[in-house]
Amino acid sequence: MQKIILIGAPGSGKGTQGELLASRLGFKKISTGDLLREEIKNKSEMGLKVKAIIDRGDLVPDDIMEGLLKSALTAHNGARLYFDGYPRNLEQAACLDKVLGAEGVSGVFYLKIEDEVLISRLSGRRVCSECQRIYHVSTDKPRMAGKCDDCGVALMQRPDDREESVKHRLQVYARETAPVLEHYDAKKLLHTIQADDKKENVYSALEKLVRK
Ligand code: AMP
Repeated sequence: MQKIILIGAPGSGKGTQGELLASRLGFKKISTGDLLREEIKNKSEMGLKVKAIIDRGDLVPDDIMEGLLKSALTAHNGARLYFDGYPRNLEQAACLDKVLGAEGVSGVFYLKIEDEVLISRLSGRRVCSECQRIYHVSTDKPRMAGKCDDCGVALMQRPDDREESVKHRLQVYARETAPVLEHYDAKKLLHTIQADDKKENVYSALEKLVRK
């Protein structure tokens, strides 16, 4: 079964494009950010441990992430799936290669975009606190102000979408995650998609590559 990675800086559209892959091609999602936010919401032991790290925009330690990855893979055993937000450094890439074994990663899709666009996207991003559907205050508004179209629940701003955290997350991305692109390029798995475009245009470029 196809196991693909959506990779790109925070705000590059991994969540939005992933939602489309799920609804149109039946992919299951493994978003480590969503899984961590769920732990925080449930006030689990892990959630309490990681909240401050996430709020300031740092990476959660690899051993915690490895546990989360393994349980998510068990939950989606055999499914066609995409990873959003994992791997985020070279150690995690090596871990994923090991955990997936012979089957391995089938493709890595890099959503490429400039930092200035990311900052405006992230600062205007709002998320449904129930289903995690993503909106934007000016480019992707819900039908009713401040409420999710699907659940009617209040939209919120993620604490790490505040300006100081956004800047820090972009630095962490450049230092830790950008090298992961080279790792997959060397394996001839990397595909680059220009992501500063309408979501449907980005999606059609992505879908073409995913179907190849
Ligand atoms: P995301 O929703 O993917 O932007 O993730 C939000 C935050 O969760 C990140 O800024 C990190 O603090 C944490 N996080 C998510 N995925 C990972 C990961 N693979 N490794 C370490 N930290 C992660």
